[in-house]
Amino acid sequence: MRVVRVVSEGDCRYGLADEATVTLISEEPFAAWEPEGTLALRGAELLYPVVPTKIVCVGINYKGHAREMGHPMPDEPVIFLKPPTAVNSPGSPIVLPEGVGRVDHEAELAVVIGRRTHRVTPEEAKHNVLGYTCANDVTAREVQRRDGQWTRAKSYDGFCPLGPWVETDVDPDDLLIECLVNGEVRQSARTSDMIFGTFELISFISHVMTLVPGDVVLTGTPAGIGPLSRGDKVEVRIEGVGVLENSVV
Ligand code: MG
Repeated sequence: MRVVRVVSEGDCRYGLADEATVTLISEEPFAAWEPEGTLALRGAELLYPVVPTKIVCVGINYKGHAREMGHPMPDEPVIFLKPPTAVNSPGSPIVLPEGVGRVDHEAELAVVIGRRTHRVTPEEAKHNVLGYTCANDVTAREVQRRDGQWTRAKSYDGFCPLGPWVETDVDPDDLLIECLVNGEVRQSARTSDMIFGTFELISFISHVMTLVPGDVVLTGTPAGIGPLSRGDKVEVRIEGVGVLENSVV
């Protein structure tokens, strides 16, 4: 099942997409819902597929990325937050802020939480996931280095594209994840290269803060991060999930 948010007659609506059609639903996808009409997927305006109360991100979580950043392998996950105002829709532009220097792409597998998640085991965490989507953890790299902590660098408006939908029927453990800029592959790895697996991460985070339906966990980026420039087209592709495309302005 693919959960989308879509514009229908001027409203933002949740729906379920197949190859050609979006079935609008009466409630959020976390609740009991009824079908309420359809529209064509082709030409539909897809929005970021959930509205999170928070976006919890994991810093160094791929072995290849730890090596490229010169970081030792962490003993436990390093987490940080992006604000909900950073979320951006598929097809919408990533705006490079003036005067911040280099801004990088970071392709990431995003987990969407489906039910209240508080102090769960990794095994329990599996049952609390609604599904998976593509994310770009856009980062102002020079600001990150200058500040010594990451809030500003990770939090500019639009620095968290998500989409195009939430795929509910996929196993996250060994998926090809890629980032392409203007059609050229910049990042390419498998999620099996993660230091801490998806459900281990959710368990860890749930012992710090309660996750609620619609919250998003970004599971870290593989090696190959690099700068974005005005006019670029950046794509995050995840096997079995989808393709998230944004322009850079
Ligand atoms: Mg990241």
